[in-house]
Amino acid sequence: MLVRKIPLRRMPSLSNMVKMMDYNLVRSKRKTLALYVRQDGSLEVRAPLKTSKGYIEDFIKQKQDWITATRSKLSDRQETKKTVQISAADAARYKKQAKEYLQLKCRYYSELMGLRPSAVRINSAKTRWGSCNGKGEINFTFRLIFAPEELIDYVVVHELAHLKEMNHSSSFWAVVEQTMPDYRERRKRLREHQHQFEFIVT
Ligand SMILES: [Zn+2]
Repeated sequence: MLVRKIPLRRMPSLSNMVKMMDYNLVRSKRKTLALYVRQDGSLEVRAPLKTSKGYIEDFIKQKQDWITATRSKLSDRQETKKTVQISAADAARYKKQAKEYLQLKCRYYSELMGLRPSAVRINSAKTRWGSCNGKGEINFTFRLIFAPEELIDYVVVHELAHLKEMNHSSSFWAVVEQTMPDYRERRKRLREHQHQFEFIVT
């Protein structure tokens, strides 16, 4: 979860005032410092190659309140998250059902949008609801069929729109909006849904 992105500038030193918390430092050619709180609550700092440790740690100390708030939000979420355990055989069955269902959905929206995928496939992806490649093939995760129908529809329209625009530019969103004027609301709800529901294949 990305949260703060600020340009590099001088900050007053807070060293010695607060005890340093553990963090993971990832350096790269980037130009700004960014702080991430991972799903497990751990802290990751992404920093330019030459930013000093003192500067980075001052930055973390300045963001302490935000880090604490984000961690507590995460743990609340973890507590309300529904985890469903399914067997590999069940997963295979769900994949088959998902294929039939999502192919039907694709056919319906294909007609409406005038965009036809070359294939519709089902995978078991955990973090992506769907994807579309340069060959015009669309993939959906079987997990999608457990989402409310209006959110499934949004994912289908989103992936079909990629047949026209292989990016997330404003022209891409215009294609989505044309078919689904309330897509913003659905997209927001889909993110919430992702945090509320988890499948574990055992
Ligand atoms: Zn997309």
